[in-house]
Amino acid sequence: MHIRAPQLDGVRPMSLPIFQSSTFAFSDSASLAEALSVPDGAYSYTRHGNPTTRALEHAVADLEGGVAALATASGMGAISAVLLARLRSGDHVVAQSALYGGTVSVLRDLSERFGVEVTYISGSPEELTEALRPNTKLLYLETIANPTTRVNDLPELARIGRGAGLTVVVDNTFASPLLCRPLEHGAHVVVHSSTKFLGGHSDVIGGVAVFAEEELYRQTWHQVLDYGASADPFAAWLTARGLQTLPLRQAKQCANARVLAERLAEHPAVGTVRWPGLASHPDHGIAAKLLSDFGSLISFDIAEGHDAAVRFLERVRLATLAASLGGVETLVLQPSTSTHRQLDAAGLAAAGITEGTIRMSVGIEHAEDLWADLAHALG
Ligand SMILES: *Cc1c(COP(=O)(O)O)cnc(C)c1O
Repeated sequence: MHIRAPQLDGVRPMSLPIFQSSTFAFSDSASLAEALSVPDGAYSYTRHGNPTTRALEHAVADLEGGVAALATASGMGAISAVLLARLRSGDHVVAQSALYGGTVSVLRDLSERFGVEVTYISGSPEELTEALRPNTKLLYLETIANPTTRVNDLPELARIGRGAGLTVVVDNTFASPLLCRPLEHGAHVVVHSSTKFLGGHSDVIGGVAVFAEEELYRQTWHQVLDYGASADPFAAWLTARGLQTLPLRQAKQCANARVLAERLAEHPAVGTVRWPGLASHPDHGIAAKLLSDFGSLISFDIAEGHDAAVRFLERVRLATLAASLGGVETLVLQPSTSTHRQLDAAGLAAAGITEGTIRMSVGIEHAEDLWADLAHALG
């Protein structure tokens, strides 16, 4: 993948320069006024736009097949900006129940403080049709759910959502545009935590929203700059630097995940293994159609439960106990005590999580080294 660097007076740097400048000079006030008021005019002030950030936005928009993108300070910055741009008091949202915790928290806030109604569905098209109301405005989905790795029938859900006049938003963080391009399946907006696969090196926090339509892009641009969610140029540069190796990293991650998922499924200490590439996965069929590979997030249940899961996390040496995912290193955690700690027993059961569940984001290490580490920690 190649990031196009902006040209400067005929100088053509091979690597994207960092335009570490908060503001840009003008020779007349009318041009400055014009530049400040549109997302795609001359560069005026970095909260409104910046050449380094713009290069990243173009690259991600191309990858997702969108008309434009906005890079933000975090994945939550992108998600919040899109929700604020599309929703007002009294609107109704339909969302899938297994959502990233931060997104659930924003939806709860919009509901409690601003009167936005939210209905959660497990993801079937019938449930979506039943959940629709006259004031439903937005459908919010994730390509691959955390940590269950359930895969929605995105084309069918987007078709129903579009038919009902909803804005269809898909968080594509777990798949990345290499495995799935939701705009091609009917989504209006794709959001990413670029902290994860796009950046890929656990060295930057960032987000990006990609748009199928110009109007959505303009609306969201206003939210991003008014609420201050814009990406910093250095963070955008780190993300763009990482993005160049996304295809190489992700191919290795997916190949490693296959080896580990298949061996975990055979291991006597392990119960259910959830990875969409396994024939036993409930959504294997739809995943095979929708995704170009099955991803590198695996969750599995340690049969003996909570204490055994804690012991496993203490015993791993190559895999690391840490939040986050999508980086070059393999990370493991126990959702019930970390990403999903707010849920009670019933909530955990509904989310398909047990106290022995481990989520693993597979990195680019040697597969045999990883397996030796996991087998030792399980043993
Ligand atoms: C991490 C993550 C987010 C939030 O992104 P930040 O960059 O941490 O703000 C949103 N959605 C998903 C699916 C994530 O994994």
